[in-house]
Amino acid sequence: MNKVATIDRAELRDLYRELILDHARKPRHFGKLAGATHSVDGINPLCGDKLHLYLTLDNDVIADAAFEGSGCAISLASASLMTDMIIGRSLTEANDWYEHVTARLTGKPGVDGIELGKLAALEGVRDFPSRVKCATLAWHALHAATDGRAAPVTTE
Ligand code: ZN
Repeated sequence: MNKVATIDRAELRDLYRELILDHARKPRHFGKLAGATHSVDGINPLCGDKLHLYLTLDNDVIADAAFEGSGCAISLASASLMTDMIIGRSLTEANDWYEHVTARLTGKPGVDGIELGKLAALEGVRDFPSRVKCATLAWHALHAATDGRAAPVTTE
């Protein structure tokens, strides 16, 4: 029996917690985005999370993304991880991510062929329905912005 490469669930949970805290303390792509072509507000009244997402689209590619806002560690980490992952991606890829992440965080199977990667750190919220909205807020904002909608997005 080779146990060298195994990692138990508690260790994994600790790694994920570290990743989330790191992104919440030092959010990537935080701030205004000059020259943004799309932007939208996202609000999660249940927790009080607020964010403003900026995107710069170059044809069907997300050339740049940033966000501002305030909220709990989960909402900030989710927005930080999201902006990190979608820059340089096509709108089709970003939409697949949206479908996959929102499905997985609500306990559904998700989209075939997509791996969560670092976003797996957020999967723990599945067991806490009120936190699911914190984790999916940025993604709903992304979906609205890429859809050309300008009205604020709310999780309620
Ligand atoms: Zn929250």
